[in-house]
Amino acid sequence: MRDHTPAASVRAEALAILSSLGVPESAFAAQGLPARSPITGEIVATVRAMSADEAGAAIGRAHEAFLAWRRVPAPRRGELVRLIGEELRTHKDDLGRLVTLETGKIVSEGLGEVQEMIDICDFAVGLSRQLYGLTIATERRDHRMMETWHPLGVCGVISAFNFPVAVWSWNAALAFICGDPVVWKPSEKTPLTALATQAIVERALARFGADAPAGLSELLIGGRDLGEVLVDDARVPVVSATGSTAMGRAVAPRLAGRFARAILELGGNNAAIVTPSADLGLALRAIAFAAMGTAGQRCTTLRRLFVHESVYDTLVPQLARAYAAVSIGDPREAGTLVGPLIDGSAYEGMERALQEARDLGARVHGGGRVATGGADAFYARPALVEIPAHTGPMLRETFAPILYVTRYATLDEAIALNNAVGAGLSSSIFTLDMREAEAFIAASGSDCGIANVNIGPSGAEIGGAFGGEKETGGGREAGSDAWKAYMRRATNTLNYGTTLPLAQGVKFDIDA
Ligand code: NAD
Repeated sequence: MRDHTPAASVRAEALAILSSLGVPESAFAAQGLPARSPITGEIVATVRAMSADEAGAAIGRAHEAFLAWRRVPAPRRGELVRLIGEELRTHKDDLGRLVTLETGKIVSEGLGEVQEMIDICDFAVGLSRQLYGLTIATERRDHRMMETWHPLGVCGVISAFNFPVAVWSWNAALAFICGDPVVWKPSEKTPLTALATQAIVERALARFGADAPAGLSELLIGGRDLGEVLVDDARVPVVSATGSTAMGRAVAPRLAGRFARAILELGGNNAAIVTPSADLGLALRAIAFAAMGTAGQRCTTLRRLFVHESVYDTLVPQLARAYAAVSIGDPREAGTLVGPLIDGSAYEGMERALQEARDLGARVHGGGRVATGGADAFYARPALVEIPAHTGPMLRETFAPILYVTRYATLDEAIALNNAVGAGLSSSIFTLDMREAEAFIAASGSDCGIANVNIGPSGAEIGGAFGGEKETGGGREAGSDAWKAYMRRATNTLNYGTTLPLAQGVKFDIDA
């Protein structure tokens, strides 16, 4: 029986999970990439990092796999994803727990991340029978025009530390059913959950049988240099890259330079508007989760709050009380709502932003380090920052639990503020006024990829396409028609007649 009590050593528990999931000994090495747990800051394991040549060989295997996998019928490819979903259900507790140990997410969020993987598998299985193309009316007699969707090639996935396994699954479940092998470069901060996921996929592949070619699912363990290998390899026609906007700025031109497709899922600086008619109790709960949940380390974390001047003095003191009361500590403990930041540099970034805000005359509730977990663990008290103007650190994403709050007078002003930053990922309005709700989600409303009413900006579910505009990169993943990015579209015109009419009435009569 595995010891899941809070006092159990992080290292012992993580190693037991890795071993029970079947991660091979060869994944570890005396010298390599240290995998740390933010719960205590300790090194849990040292994993073997791949060389660039090894990464190239993995891409080569994936390309070979593509040549076979593209000929397997899509519903049969869906069967593999169904088995991956089944294995994830079986190992949900272990993988979810490992997410907690490696990222510091609270237990229900670690489990929720694996549930999201299961949900995208279910979605993709259904989709494997729905990769529809259109039939289009043609102007030419005895012709038929249609579009068909074909597998594209190897799909590269680069993922961030904060959703160490879900991001892979949003891409991989769709890529697999679309006929694309996947080469995954996880964050160098979260190699253990990646190894565990790969071990789970191996189980599904073994059950699936001979239709699955070797190289269908490859894992590149190492630093950003391996991400660069993936980005620059001509055998990878599509790369889905999730991480900071700085990473996107480096990756996007390189992909464009070789005309590869980029699915970019970059940083957010998400806002919410609280209007005079809002249900303030509901808004308070939504804001608390969206701003403090996951210790402020979600791309969709709420970072900017615009409160109408008529309700500011009611809502903000209540929020300040919620901030003072939130439980911070070991994410394995029942009752903890806020776990650690990923590392010391995240904490320093938070402190710098708070100091900048203070220098601008802001009033900071909370903030500062919470002494728990040891010298190498960084637990921060979430900060609510009453800032006099929309300026300074409020204009950028600091990946930590800081919520800047300011007053507004008119809805037009609040929408303009919502849109006045580089990122365009997620946004919300709290209102019971239908006109305000509709204005917020209209063409002249929020410019974000996600615009919600009476829920916070974080916590998206699988059915919708996920992603954002502007400096968030424009990519869409997971739901709706996001699958199209993983396939190539061919338009086919078929002539079943005996004449050769040209489109647009063009004549080209040649004696032959
Ligand atoms: P990061 O940019 O530091 O790293 C993300 C990944 O990119 C890592 O795997 C890293 O090795 C790789 N990478 C970095 N530079 C690269 C380069 N030049 N070439 C190739 N690969 C490179 O991000 P992080 O700190 O791990 O994650 C936090 C950031 O990710 C935040 O900005 C957050 O908003 C964003 N994020 C966005 C989404 C989304 O869906 N929009 C989801 C999760 C996280």
